[in-house]
Amino acid sequence: MNERADMHVHSTFSDGKDRLEDNVAEAEALGLTALGCVDHVRANTAWVPDYVEAVRRARGATKVELRCGIEAKLLDTSGALDLPEGIDGVDAIYAADHQVPLAEGPTHPREVRERIAAGELSAADVIEAILQATARALDRPQHVVIAHFGSILPKIGLTEADLPADGLDRLAAEAARTGQEIEISERWRCPSAATLRPFLRHGVPIALSTDSHRRETIGRYTHCLAVSRELRAG
Ligand SMILES: [Zn+2]
Ligand SMILES: [Zn+2]
Repeated sequence: MNERADMHVHSTFSDGKDRLEDNVAEAEALGLTALGCVDHVRANTAWVPDYVEAVRRARGATKVELRCGIEAKLLDTSGALDLPEGIDGVDAIYAADHQVPLAEGPTHPREVRERIAAGELSAADVIEAILQATARALDRPQHVVIAHFGSILPKIGLTEADLPADGLDRLAAEAARTGQEIEISERWRCPSAATLRPFLRHGVPIALSTDSHRRETIGRYTHCLAVSRELRAG
């Protein structure tokens, strides 16, 4: 867990306020060793080649280690992601729970909450769908980071305490088997130390990230440091 790195920062390529170069300048000013450039994509995103080139150019002008990342939402329990074609040169895909990835496809959290309340869906089945979608998204040739895992739970009236220990252990084991990574998100204040313990046990790398959308918040941690301290304390 490198506290001198911020592995998830958005730029004007998607919904960030500052240009990629400005984010890099901020990382330099803070003395960070690594910065994860991450922008949101969808299946129809056409700027990925330009983005890869922009990160490559930025690398030539800084000592900060730059990762070229894209963030895509989990679509369903097959582990499909909302990704465009042609993502050569991308270092990492951030798989994000922006919608609930049910078997039938991405579903708005409000709708899922209503269906749980109406007894059409059980909370346990929804959690199982999220765990399965996330686990299956990891099994691909690219490097995958599990982005702000659990951020969807409060939106459907659940918490990380509702995650079953065996399900989390299976997900962590799959992340280890596939060589993938998970982040602690300052912006979403998740996952908790309890959720991350199985990942630590399985030796899955844990990145610190702010999910910043403006340079002023890059590399500034409170939640992440608290969680990483808790994890180190055992
Ligand atoms: Zn996100
Ligand atoms: Zn993000």
